[in-house]
Amino acid sequence: MRVAIAGAGLAGLSCAKYLTDAGHTPIVLERRDVLGGKIAAWQDEDGDWYETGLHIFFGAYPNMLQLFRELGIEERLQWKEHTMIFNQPDTPGTYSRFDFPDIPAPWNGVMAILGNNEMLTWGEKISFGMGLIPAMIRGQQYVEEMDKYSFSQWCQKQNIPSRVEKEVFIAMSKALNFINPDEISATILLTALNRFLQEKDGSKMAFLDGSPTERLCQPLVDYITARDGQVRLNAPLKEILVAEDGTVRGFVIRGVHGAADEVLTTDVYVSAMPVDPLKLMVPQPWKELECFQKLQGLEGVPVINLHLWFDRKLTDIDHLLFSRSPLLSVYADMSNTCKAYADPSRSMLELVLAPAKDWIGKSDQEIIAATMAELAKLFPHHFSGDESASLLKYHVVKTPRSVYKATPGRQACRPDQRTPVVNFYLAGDYTMQEYLGSMEGAVLSGKLAAQAIVEDKQQRTRRN
Ligand SMILES: Cc1cc2nc3c(=O)[nH]c(=O)nc-3n(C[C@H](O)[C@H](O)[C@H](O)COP(=O)(O)OP(=O)(O)OC[C@H]3O[C@@H](n4cnc5c(N)ncnc54)[C@H](O)[C@@H]3O)c2cc1C
Repeated sequence: MRVAIAGAGLAGLSCAKYLTDAGHTPIVLERRDVLGGKIAAWQDEDGDWYETGLHIFFGAYPNMLQLFRELGIEERLQWKEHTMIFNQPDTPGTYSRFDFPDIPAPWNGVMAILGNNEMLTWGEKISFGMGLIPAMIRGQQYVEEMDKYSFSQWCQKQNIPSRVEKEVFIAMSKALNFINPDEISATILLTALNRFLQEKDGSKMAFLDGSPTERLCQPLVDYITARDGQVRLNAPLKEILVAEDGTVRGFVIRGVHGAADEVLTTDVYVSAMPVDPLKLMVPQPWKELECFQKLQGLEGVPVINLHLWFDRKLTDIDHLLFSRSPLLSVYADMSNTCKAYADPSRSMLELVLAPAKDWIGKSDQEIIAATMAELAKLFPHHFSGDESASLLKYHVVKTPRSVYKATPGRQACRPDQRTPVVNFYLAGDYTMQEYLGSMEGAVLSGKLAAQAIVEDKQQRTRRN
């Protein structure tokens, strides 16, 4: 069976990989000249890589970890110490840690929280623990029901002191969906907390050892093409052609650089595009179908990723840091955390700016000036006096519509990988799967789409 897949992000590539495993032939069409979508990366004129986003892999990513094993590249994940490190805004240049001891879950998580005395008082920890009891007892069903509340509303409902939200969950909320707790659905943070508390290594973090395009997407492409699949760059889907019976008749690929448009005809079709371009491309005859109508409730959230190269080492911390800055979310000194970017004498900070809605339209210079002012608070010793650290160069990567904005009520808008159109399927982190808008969610969505395609084909064969 030949399957056309629009989009070479993780969802599209994962779908193609699992289709080749089942003996089918995927043809992946990517709009841009780079693989990876939201994990895409580029090399500048000096050969330095810069990325769409600072990406962290978690122990609680079973499908992603399995994919690394299947590709034979698991040594590319650089696992860090099991801890979470937060900047302390009241004492600039200092850190507070949640250290997870090597004991079974949930006790390692409980010990990590109890062992941190700088950020939360004992009273606050107890109130937070009590507030979490329904989520622990009733599990994911309760977590899904809480999608009607923002995380701030949920904290109020559970009598959790507002300082808990301010000290810990602004940082977590910005890291997970690039928005604040008064906007994010309670389901998002509760899902992450449940995973982190239920799985011993759930919150353990790894960095890839180089650029995601080279180190993760390329091995996927090699795997797919070695099994007769194709991955075509500069091949934007322009239109979904619909037959009289409402099924897909073909994908129109826009001709680039003066070439003519092309119609690709296959047995099955998949959209692995983000939800925003898909919404614009839904063919007229499908617009009344509930599955496509509810997509209108989903929209990508803006985010900005920054790379700053300095003339000296700013820190030797080999881990992700939660900045707790109003401007920034998480950051890392990639010269410590990532093998391919290693530099013993100079720092390269990769930082996520979020929420970004007021910044996405500003110039790179304005964004960097504001970031440097924040860095003076995060690294006070390096940005004061005559011997202040110098910024050598920077890259700013803006993504006006990234993962879907996970405000309350969005769970009901997320579609299944199967659609009512028999030869059309969906993959993408926004589709319904248990891992939210994340790399794990994207890989799982691609795998689920491939499984649905294979099962439906087998059923049709049995019937005929
Ligand atoms: C700044 C940032 C930080 C992040 N940090 C993390 C993290 O630490 N951990 C984590 O798990 N996740 C993180 N994520 C989220 C993660 O990157 C995404 O959830 C995941 O990569 C989405 O994959 P996808 O395949 O669903 O979509 P995408 O990656 O968006 O892929 C969709 C593809 O479709 C292509 N496309 C669009 N239109 C067309 C068309 N007309 N024709 C053909 N192709 C088209 C796009 O070019 C793109 O390549 C982060 C994201 C960002 C932006």
